[in-house]
Amino acid sequence: MTNPTPASPSRRRALGAVCACTGAAVAAPLMGANALRTVALGALGVSGVAVSSAASAAPAAARTALTPDQALQRLMDANEAFVSDKPQAPQINRKRRLEIAQGQTPFAVLLSCSDSRVPPEVLFGQGLGDLFTVRVAGNTVSPEGLGSIEYAVAELGVPLIVVLGHERCGAVGAAVSIVRDGTSFPGAIGEMVSPIVPSAIRARDEKGDWLDNAVRRNVVDVVERLKVSGNLLEEPIAAGKLKIVGARYDLDDGKIDFFHR
Ligand SMILES: [Zn+2]
Repeated sequence: MTNPTPASPSRRRALGAVCACTGAAVAAPLMGANALRTVALGALGVSGVAVSSAASAAPAAARTALTPDQALQRLMDANEAFVSDKPQAPQINRKRRLEIAQGQTPFAVLLSCSDSRVPPEVLFGQGLGDLFTVRVAGNTVSPEGLGSIEYAVAELGVPLIVVLGHERCGAVGAAVSIVRDGTSFPGAIGEMVSPIVPSAIRARDEKGDWLDNAVRRNVVDVVERLKVSGNLLEEPIAAGKLKIVGARYDLDDGKIDFFHR
């Protein structure tokens, strides 16, 4: 995978704290929040003049009223309904579409795997405008993924980020096979898997199933890197306006275990 967007040296260092394969937690508040905010918005094609400046006199856009804990409880309740085969009716009708046509107010960011068995909106019975999702095999965070998450928090006021791994994840399995067997992968697959390799190494000597331990370790590592990725996430965390939690989805019973809070 390539990163076609030039970034300043400081921006690259800040992103490196999240994306580095070492898993080392490096605090990197290297750019001001507003500068980062403008970068993220520009990447999304959003008018920075209209919505990005903290100095703007424009009123803040509508945001969810949920606190981080309330947002988490909503997801837990929704998953319980999914597990009991009584999923909540997601709002996916015309009324809802028109409601959010002029602006979105999602209440959670889901950083989850691309696996076809793990669609966040289905697992949580959520509809249009509820979840801001970033999906990539192995639920790692690239610079583009981090910018997307920062945008959701800084501009949309999302109070909760969930890093969601899952049972029998193929991407994590690939990382384990690199460590165990020295496997190499064609194309860009190896590069996609490489951020997970340090987690697979750390999980190697843990008791139990290596793959499942690596799934959990990878989730924890991504959560912890996000927590030190820069001002756009660190400041709302410090103010109690944002939580980042890690979870594992069980393919067999449908339960989501929010095991890292
Ligand atoms: Zn997966």
